[in-house]
Amino acid sequence: MDRLQGKLALVTGSGSGLGEAITRRFAEEGAEVVVNDLDPGAAERVAKEVDGHVLTFDVSDSAAVRRGFAEVAERFGRLDILVNNAGIAPRYSDEERAERDALLLQHVTELQGGGEVTTFLDTTVSLPDEDWREMLAVHLDGTFFCTREALKIMGPRRSGAIVNMGSIMGTSGGSGAPAYCAAKAGIMGFSRAVALEVVGRGIRVNAIAPGFIDTPMTAPIGAARPLLLAQTPMARFGEPDDIAWAAVYLASDEAKFVTGQVLSPNGGWHMSQ
Ligand code: NAP
Repeated sequence: MDRLQGKLALVTGSGSGLGEAITRRFAEEGAEVVVNDLDPGAAERVAKEVDGHVLTFDVSDSAAVRRGFAEVAERFGRLDILVNNAGIAPRYSDEERAERDALLLQHVTELQGGGEVTTFLDTTVSLPDEDWREMLAVHLDGTFFCTREALKIMGPRRSGAIVNMGSIMGTSGGSGAPAYCAAKAGIMGFSRAVALEVVGRGIRVNAIAPGFIDTPMTAPIGAARPLLLAQTPMARFGEPDDIAWAAVYLASDEAKFVTGQVLSPNGGWHMSQ
């Protein structure tokens, strides 16, 4: 109950899903938590439940991130834990998603059938610039902007733990999500580079690469769900707490010899990173 006692933690995108679960577990473990989200209502709801603080900013907006972390420095004078969790899925309407799920199922059936493949998703050739940029902006720019500002607070104190949210999609790839996979792979590479850079300052940087977890982000997955379950040896999606406990561990002093690592709670999808 006191694994994070006395620590101040900021969790981005914590008005929902994994960020919300992480925030709850952090608070239970004694941390004081700053809840960040785009949606002030969601951030306030979670902050109220954990007796935390609200800080609403868009992680992909460099100036807004700078202002947000300046407020943390001024108000608290420290930051012990940063979780770069905010993220988005590719944006599809229900109709587009159903059409893509059907195409994917047909594509996989044809591939596995061993005959001629005539059905394709063709995501990359039809991906608009703005969709590519938005995905990289929220995940990769956001992780960089928040890490840069957090290090300005953690560096002089020679202590801190940063946990970045990757994905199995960044390690194993994922059909039909090139921008998401690129962003997540980038986050994991970034985590290793920064881990090396700041190790002498007593700051640890690690990543989590979740498998498929039941959250509002994955709720719209419909016809493709059986396909994903078939690829998961545990044959189920994970729960947000499966990721929250990984974040507690990496953020806590129990992980004091752990840096530059990717921890992947994924139901057996991947057996190593
Ligand atoms: P979620 O329920 O949709 O939560 C994501 C949160 O991030 C939302 O509260 C969202 O706010 C916030 N957000 C989005 N863009 C933001 C921005 N620019 N600035 C600040 N906050 C922003 O999704 P989740 O499943 O919990 O995902 C959390 C993280 O885990 C993401 O990085 C995701 O890629 C990663 N992940 C998820 C899974 C999974 O299976 N669920 C697997 C691997 C990795 P609004 O709701 O206001 O937009």
